[in-house]
Order: sequence, then structure tokens, then C-alpha cells
Amino acid sequence: MYTCGPTVYDFAHIGNFRTFVFQDVLRRFLQSRKYRVLQVMNLTDVDDRIIQKAAAAGVSIREYTEKYVQAFLQDMDALHLEVPEELVRATDHIEDMVGLIERLQKKGLTYSSEGSIYYSIAKFPHYGRLSKIDLAGMKTGVRVDVDQYEKENARDFALWKAPKPGEHFWETRIGPGRPGWHIECSAMAMKYLGDTLDIHTGGVDLAFPHHENEIAQSEAATGHPFVRLWLHAEHLIIDGEKMSKSYGNTILLTDPEPVVRQKLKTMVTDPARVRRSDPGNPDVCPVGDLHKIFSDRATMDKVNAGCRSAGIGCIECKSWAADALVQLLNPMQERRKKFEENPRLAWDILEAGSEQARKVAAETMNDVRDAMGMSLAYEPLAGEDGR
Ligand SMILES: [Zn+2]
Repeated sequence: MYTCGPTVYDFAHIGNFRTFVFQDVLRRFLQSRKYRVLQVMNLTDVDDRIIQKAAAAGVSIREYTEKYVQAFLQDMDALHLEVPEELVRATDHIEDMVGLIERLQKKGLTYSSEGSIYYSIAKFPHYGRLSKIDLAGMKTGVRVDVDQYEKENARDFALWKAPKPGEHFWETRIGPGRPGWHIECSAMAMKYLGDTLDIHTGGVDLAFPHHENEIAQSEAATGHPFVRLWLHAEHLIIDGEKMSKSYGNTILLTDPEPVVRQKLKTMVTDPARVRRSDPGNPDVCPVGDLHKIFSDRATMDKVNAGCRSAGIGCIECKSWAADALVQLLNPMQERRKKFEENPRLAWDILEAGSEQARKVAAETMNDVRDAMGMSLAYEPLAGEDGR
């Protein structure tokens, strides 16, 4: 199983972690069904934003991304997520990407322009099949340099980008430059999992263009199907919008309580919507959406009853939602703090692979099992039987 991991240019927010919780539940389910799981997750530590930000800060890519890699590992642990068997960095796999681009070059699927190498999607007849994108109006040879481009707009994309002044680049057989984002995942997925993977997961916004491009690169190079099963996680929705850095509505796992409260207070900002367009109907109240995500059953019942009788205003509603979220985040933040006191621990777990990881995983599994009331149906887990 391959999972598109975080781009480590900033802290991941709880919306990002929705996707990682989803893939964690999936791997736990497969293990509980006695499948052997080999999961590869990449850390995208080279992309447009990272290169620019590292250059602006005057530090190497490794230095710039290290803080965010550590924070990601700590957050994963705070959420009790299992560490994938292989957690791999793009910058450690430049050679594999160059090799894959050379294979595509040999098959005549690429062209060069001003030092960059592009994939000609017109030469891959299956392009667009996963995301069902309409290619009717597509012009051949129209290309794009940026990693993340307009939705619904198919373009030839960059496999390799010419260096820009002042920015980091690699000297390679295909020339100086750096890999495009899409080739990272194709190269790393196939290196560890072979030409055909059983499962590929990611956020729903990655289906196009990222995963479409991964398919085009991998299948054209190998002649084999790339992925048997694609599974995409939906976004975390807040007030009708996805939680996203670009919308400014993110909550971090490390946000202290007052920050969470303040963010929630200001998050539902449209006064017309806050006034509750349809009194008595909690289903159309944007704050009601927050309760659906974060509140327990009893609080939701209270809020809904108050809303129907118009006895509760949205301010009170919001403060209850903030309480619920803070309650949810507090234990995770505590756990994260413990790890901050001993920052080596996350790496030790990764490197040793081993007892500590198994213990954490077993604890996590037992927690999940207890929480989900599955104790009768399941056999003892690793850790309980002395393994
Ligand atoms: Zn990816």
C-alpha cells in the first residue's frame, strides 16, 4: 500500500490528519483480517514551495524541512497512528526518479523545453480515466510548470524542472534541475512495491492531477497496471469549506486551548449564516456542522433541542463546540508534549522499527479495540502474547 504523505513545508493541520487517520484505520483493518501490510509513505521534501522557502531562508532543504518532519512524526504519534513500514524522503530518491524519466524518454513520451522535461499526455491514451476528466477541449503541447495546477484542466506536466537562480538543484544524467512532484511518488512507490501496487491512498484532491499523472508515468514506463485499488479520503469540512491553509481555517494539533477557541469563534464568519438562516433547523446551521464533527451525543442533543426551541444562540453553540474540540485535543496534546521533551524518541521508533514501535502499536490497537467494543471478536494483539 502506498500513501501520499505530507509535503513538509509547514505544520500539518487536523484536516490533513483526517487522511492519515483514514489510512491508519485501513491498515489496522487489513492486519486484523490477517493481511501482511507493507505500507510506504513518502515525505515530499522537494516541491516548489519548499525550494522557494529554503532559498529565501538561506538554508538547505534538509535543514528547512527537518522541523516539519519531526512535528509530523510527533503528531502521528499523538494520534496513535502506526508508523508505515517505509517512511521515505523524496530527496533520498532523486536517482530513482532520474531513472524513471530516462525510461519515459526512451519510449518517446517526453519532450524538453528550456532545460525542463515534460510528459506528453496525448501519448498516453488512458489519461483521465481515474478522475474521469473531460479531455475534449485539450490542446496538445500545452504545458504547465507548477506542481499543483488548475483543476479540470489537463496539461503536459513537468517531470524534471530546470534550475532557477539561487534555488537548490541536482546535477544528474538528464541535466541539472529538480524532480516534479508527480514523478516522486511513481518512482518511490514502484521502488518499494513493484510495478503493480495493491492499494494507493491519498486525499480526494490528489486524484487529479497528481494520481492521474502517477498512472501515466508508471504505466507508460512498465506496461503494467500501476494500482489495483485507489482509495481517496474526503476533506474535513468546516463551515462548508474544506479545512485548508489557503482558506485560513486550519486547526493544528498543537494549538493551545485559547487558540482553538479563538479560531472556532472566528471561523464561522459570515454574519448572515451565523444568524441562523432557518431558526429551528439545526441541520442548516454552520455551527451545527462543528457539533456533528466534534461533539458527543449528549451535547449534540442539547444543542439541537436548544436550536429547535430557539433557546440557544450561536455564540453559546460555538462555545460548546470549542469545549468539545478542546476535550478531544487535550489528551493528544499532552502526549505530544511528552514527545517534545524527548525528540529522539520518534526517530528511535522509526529506526529501530521494533519493540518500541510494536508496543506503541499494540497499545494503540488495544485502545482502538476497547473504544470500538471489539474485544470479543478479536484475538490477542501483539504485546499481549509476549511478542
Ligand atoms: Zn503522491
